[in-house]
Amino acid sequence: MSAVSAFSYARRQTRAREHMRVASLDALLLTHPPNLRYLIGFTGTSGAVLLTRSGCTVIVDFRYVTAAHELAASHPDLSGLEVHCAEHSIDDAAASVIRARGLRRVGIESASMPVGRFSKLSAALAGVPEPVGAPTSALVLTERVVERIRAVKEPAEVAIIREAAARLSSVAARVAGFVLAGRSEREIAADIDDALRQAGFERPAFETIVASGPNSALPHARLGLRRVEHGDGVVLDFGGVYDGYCVDLTRTVQLGSSRELSRLLDAVSQAHAAAISAVKPGARPSEIDAAARDRLAGHGLADAFGHGTGHGLGLEVHEEPRIGRLAPGQPDEPVESGMVFTIEPGAYLPSLGGVRIEDDVLVVPGGCEVLTDVPILL
Ligand code: ZN
Ligand code: ZN
Repeated sequence: MSAVSAFSYARRQTRAREHMRVASLDALLLTHPPNLRYLIGFTGTSGAVLLTRSGCTVIVDFRYVTAAHELAASHPDLSGLEVHCAEHSIDDAAASVIRARGLRRVGIESASMPVGRFSKLSAALAGVPEPVGAPTSALVLTERVVERIRAVKEPAEVAIIREAAARLSSVAARVAGFVLAGRSEREIAADIDDALRQAGFERPAFETIVASGPNSALPHARLGLRRVEHGDGVVLDFGGVYDGYCVDLTRTVQLGSSRELSRLLDAVSQAHAAAISAVKPGARPSEIDAAARDRLAGHGLADAFGHGTGHGLGLEVHEEPRIGRLAPGQPDEPVESGMVFTIEPGAYLPSLGGVRIEDDVLVVPGGCEVLTDVPILL
């Protein structure tokens, strides 16, 4: 059985409909591409899915009509999928379908819908001639509906991510060889990107980060022309997309020996281990984050760690759950078995440089499994 045929599109749609019922929605209009891929396997760059209480329609332009029909035939869960070809814009077509079916409360994805698109869609809904006496349709803002379902991976997704993590670890095992005095950050990054492709990744999951010497004190340094020098610490942060799923890994390579840098590496490595030990079903993201943060504070590095401890991985490289300090209004929902996220504490000292160590973990009953497998010190 291929991975795709093992995906449970019916279960995913049922979970989304549970949310629709709770929020008294007649339909959900989904436009965020990763969510379309998740709910029906659609991988086009534009399109929309209208999920109603009993049906599912994909709205595409003519470029994707054949692909959409093929999707419906590709998986038993998708046999009832209706395909609607948009004559003009996807949103105009969505508005027509919504009005034709008399759907009154229609949820939209507020986090990914630009304000301009929202106003056009509202205008299109208002502009479609109403059947006499038909109720008006209203757009209702929703957040994290499909994202929360996506956070817990199905066995078929775990299998893909596990394979991706093994391949990324094989790349990580090679990267120290690319870091040689005199080479530029850009040259090293190009080698890493080549290694990702050789390892079977479709593409890098994000722009590869190579931050050397003083640049390493900037957690998301831009790739530069700086040439690596003896005594540098070099942060290498890279990831790949495999079968649609993202994995992400960071190691800090030391060129030559520096006692201060070694101490920093040791402190971050302890924080990384402490956070991994804190991961288990029921643990709150803020607790996992605190495990890393407290350990760094114990080394006098409380102010040197300015970002979150981790982020979910899946169809997107940054997704639910967010593992960080509790912010006002932010959810701190306990992590569950089947979630996959990074653990990536760091410490950044402008005078010395920075260190970050990142691995990918899968939450399992009683704890977690570290999916990436490469020594901390390369
Ligand atoms: Zn990373
Ligand atoms: Zn990351």
